[in-house]
Amino acid sequence: MDEKELLKQAVPPLLGWYRLCKRDLPWRKERTPYRVLVSELMLQQTRVEAVKERYVEFLRRFPTAERLASASEEEVMKAWEGLGYYSRARNLYRAAKIIAEEGFPQTWVGVRALPGVGDYTAGAISSIALGVAAPAVDGNVLRILTRFFADSRNIGDQAAKKYFSELLRAVYPPEAGEFTEALMELGAIVCVPNGPPMCGACPWSALCKAHAAGTEEQFPVRSEKRARRVEELDVYVLKHGNEFALEKRGAGLLAGLYGFPCVRRGETFPAAGKVLAEKRAKHVFTHVEWHMLGRLAEAAADGDYLWATAAEIAEKFALPSAFKAFRAWLK
Ligand code: SF4
Repeated sequence: MDEKELLKQAVPPLLGWYRLCKRDLPWRKERTPYRVLVSELMLQQTRVEAVKERYVEFLRRFPTAERLASASEEEVMKAWEGLGYYSRARNLYRAAKIIAEEGFPQTWVGVRALPGVGDYTAGAISSIALGVAAPAVDGNVLRILTRFFADSRNIGDQAAKKYFSELLRAVYPPEAGEFTEALMELGAIVCVPNGPPMCGACPWSALCKAHAAGTEEQFPVRSEKRARRVEELDVYVLKHGNEFALEKRGAGLLAGLYGFPCVRRGETFPAAGKVLAEKRAKHVFTHVEWHMLGRLAEAAADGDYLWATAAEIAEKFALPSAFKAFRAWLK
């Protein structure tokens, strides 16, 4: 039997399993295209558990694209606080403005053109929200499929992604959204990434090649990860009376967000006067690690900063979690 035929046979048991066993998640209720967009952007690079409550809160605050589009950027950033990867919030905000004006796009191409939506997210949104037969292939789906076919393609290669996308596209059933979600769910709770997959609970156990050969854990095959670049930074928490200096970050990591002033390790920083405390901290981004030496210091000059009290910072500014270690100084 060829791959396509085998995968076709795997569709009904997967859908049947999903209907019985799917988790009760907030974004699976009251579906609208806008809600699907919010959940998919929130779930990019963030665990389901971390998103659950935030999704509900976010929608309480911004129940429609129109409501989100009419909020201020600061309000949106604040509502996103703690979820990290703030560019997603900015993209969602921009997408809401487009949707509020033009309506929700009705095709994969239209969805893909929204800010922050790549191939995977476009597939997820257009299959779940619009019922289009569009595969959403990420690491989870690649893991399941390489196990299912005992396929040792390197899942780090674009060619592998393309291959499995085409294979899936050829077997998409009319229940497109359910199928996309069923694949995601299988990867999340049965054919799991860390530790052995739970083949005993898997709707594909009778068809899966890796399971038949007992080689489940040899898949997926992936190339070595690129090492993260380390940036050594001096972070200044400048104090003037009961106010602290914030600066809007320029291009690069955390662009557009307010944070504490930073310089490369060892560069002079004339705005700092007497140093009151020092502390080291590390923050890991996807491709970069910040190794920070934080200094609480008296301000020697006003500088071109925004000055705010601890209460104002807590209330109005989404201080990125990269600076979390230095928040205790804000008092
Ligand atoms: S049988 Fe096991 S390895 Fe195969 S898809 Fe199911 S959980 Fe994954």
